[in-house]
This record gives sequence, structure tokens and C-alpha cells, in this order.
Amino acid sequence: MDNAFRYQDGELFCEGVAVRDIARQVGTPFYLYSSFAFCSRLNDYEKAFGNYPHLVCFAVKSNSNLAVLNLMANQGAGADIVSGGELFRALRSGFPADRIVYSGVGKTIPEIREAIGAGILMFNVESMQELEEISRQARILGKRARISFRVNPDVNPKTHPYISTGLKKNKFGMPMGMALEAYRMAMDMDGIDIIGIDCHIGSQLTDLAPFVDALDRVKSLLVDIESFGIELDYIDIGGGLGIKYHEENAPSPGEYVRAILDHMDGLEHKIIIEPGRSIAGNAGILVTSVINIKDTGTKKFIIVDAAMNDLARPSLYEAYHAIHPVSRGDAVHEAVDIVGPICESGDFLARNRLFPRIARGDLLSVFSAGAYGFTMSSNYNSRPRAAEVLVRGQEFAVVRARETYDDLIRGEKVLDWTCERL
Ligand SMILES: *Cc1c(COP(=O)(O)O)cnc(C)c1O
Repeated sequence: MDNAFRYQDGELFCEGVAVRDIARQVGTPFYLYSSFAFCSRLNDYEKAFGNYPHLVCFAVKSNSNLAVLNLMANQGAGADIVSGGELFRALRSGFPADRIVYSGVGKTIPEIREAIGAGILMFNVESMQELEEISRQARILGKRARISFRVNPDVNPKTHPYISTGLKKNKFGMPMGMALEAYRMAMDMDGIDIIGIDCHIGSQLTDLAPFVDALDRVKSLLVDIESFGIELDYIDIGGGLGIKYHEENAPSPGEYVRAILDHMDGLEHKIIIEPGRSIAGNAGILVTSVINIKDTGTKKFIIVDAAMNDLARPSLYEAYHAIHPVSRGDAVHEAVDIVGPICESGDFLARNRLFPRIARGDLLSVFSAGAYGFTMSSNYNSRPRAAEVLVRGQEFAVVRARETYDDLIRGEKVLDWTCERL
């Protein structure tokens, strides 16, 4: 998988295509995805489950490009969505509704109606109020809604505080102590079929212990729930498996799935997982060009044409992304900051990085950018969002055109007003 992006004679390739050739045709910046890398990571999960009943629901928020989603759907994955917009994308890209699970802490009434209307596999319900709304909307639509409760197992995933979700203090899920009563009440609600139990404890977890802890807690709750006559089909353990950005030692999908299956203790519930980053993260890079090199005497800045609006993770989480020139050259390394053109000091892709000497116009590749890259991008500083490109073997296709200036102002209008007298 990790060799979907590799150097041949000093030139970076994505599968069988030279990154430089794509840059020449598409311009920079652009996201570049390897279909092989996406499929092989998904396949690692599938293989590890073997015959055990399961559904791998790709977390759409990690990479929601239609071509990527379509690839995942074609390979048999399901989709984990967190909004009506993601439902729209998931259906458009070919996921059957009965392979879509809907997570998310604030589902609006229109979103709930759309999902019931589509006939999704299940809602991961966050609270009693939400369940009451789902029940009400199901009755109005004359349909049934399948649900699980998302419980908060209160385990510490030891990840960045912004991406931990399974602690008591987090906004997500239902406290374990309330869940039994919630299931009991849900039994009598119209239009509701209770089919599972769900949790999701965080993201970029590089240790299996928190997953196993969470599963143990969910399992003991499940036994209590079933003891009063509800039979559950699914245990959804969410996403969150980490990847190697830098020096992390992330478990493989196979190790993760084996740890889960080893802790099922004879239970035979169908397992749903919702991986995003661990499939998409290392399946994509961001390619950017050097605009200028600026030496202030105290520091050297490489100013590139990708910025925090394109890749927010360094600014938002102080996340590390490996960055290398697309053409390997000079062996001499010097400490630099690699920054974008945005008017914020927080606009950087890398700080104090030892980097080979390069020149204006050189291409750089920002690695591990396939997840939470494009999907978190914005138009800040009125920067058109980057193009997205998908490679398969020797071929590539632009799967999202670079935005134009007209795209920037879509929906806006000039009123030609002057202010009323003050
Ligand atoms: C974000 C999220 C995921 C995916 O998390 P990754 O860390 O990308 O695997 C899965 N499920 C839920 C509910 C999420 O919010």
C-alpha cells in the first residue's frame, strides 16, 4: 500500500504515473489519490474479517470525492455519513442505502427525513430526544427506521484532545449509565427497530488497547440489553485506527480486526467498522509548487502555492506531514518553514524541517494527505479549492476540477446599495 507513492530514479510516481506529468497537465496545487492504495487498505480489512459477518463503512468525511466513494462502493464497502450532504454524496456515488449508517451529534429534521426516505441501514442515535424525532418522522413518512444507540464508553484514546470523542466530557454519544434505560424506552417507540449498539472513541489511535476496552464495555452493556428481550444484530465499533504520518507505529487493519475478533468471546453479532483515515490517509498526497524562497536572516521560508485553506491539519492540530521534493536532488539539508500565502502566521505546512535545497517552481509533495485534506479545505483568502486527481495504474483522471473565480462567488450578488443615513 505505502508503495503506491514511490520514487523511481529520483522522480516521484503514483502507481505508474509520474507526479510531474500530472502537475504539468493539471497545474498546482492538487490532491492526488491512488485507487490501488484505497482498495488495498479496504481489502486488508475485508481479508482480516474473512467469513466473520461484517460491514466496513468507509467514513465519508475523511474523503468525500465522488470518484473515491464510487471506488469504495464498487469494492463492496458501506458508508458512514454524518450529514445530509454526505448522504447525498453516498447515494450519488453508488452506495446502496442498506450499506449506509448515519452517525453525527446533531441530525436536523430534514436530514432525518432524507435518511429515512432513502432507507438507510441504521441511525447511530445520540440521545433520547433525537430518537423521539426519528420516531416522529418515521411515523409521518409511514416508514420504519433502524437504529442503534451511540454510547460513550468513557475510555481515553490518548490521542490529540480535539480528535478524542469517547470521554465522558466529550459531546458525543450517550453515557453508559443512561443507555440501558434508553434501550428499554426505545422498545415501545413507533416506527423504530432497534438493531444494534454503537461507539466511536476517537481518531488517529495508534494503540489497540482503547478499542478493546471500549468493546469490552459495549459487550457487557449488550448482554444487559439482550437480557430484557431486545435482540441486537450489529455491534458498530466506529473508526479511529491511526496511520503513520511520521514516527507513529500504527497497528495494521489486520491486527486491529484480529484484536476485535479475539475479544468477541463467542458473541456472533455482525460487526460494523467505520474507518476513514486508515483507508484514505496514506492513499493521497497534496502536490504544490514553490512560489518563492525567503530568507529573513533568522529563518528561511519556502512559500508554496498550497496553504492552510487547502490542508488545515498542520494549523489545526499541529499535525506532521512528511514533505519531499517531487524530484529528489540536492543532498544538503537546511532548516526551513514551509508556508502558504495566507495572511495568518498559523498558515504553515511544516516548521523547522530539514529540507534539501530547492528552487522557485520546484514541485513538492505533502504526504499522508488523503484523509481530512480536501474535505477540510476552504476558500479562505478567496483561494479557489485545489483540483483532485485519481490514478489507476498508468491512467489518471481529474475527479474534481480546480475551482474557478466564478465558483468563488456562486450564489453571491451585488446589491449596489449605499448605506442608509446613519
Ligand atoms: C470521524 C468518524 C469516523 C472516522 O474516523 P477515522 O479516524 O477517520 O477512522 C468514524 N465514525 C464516526 C462516528 C466519526 O465521527
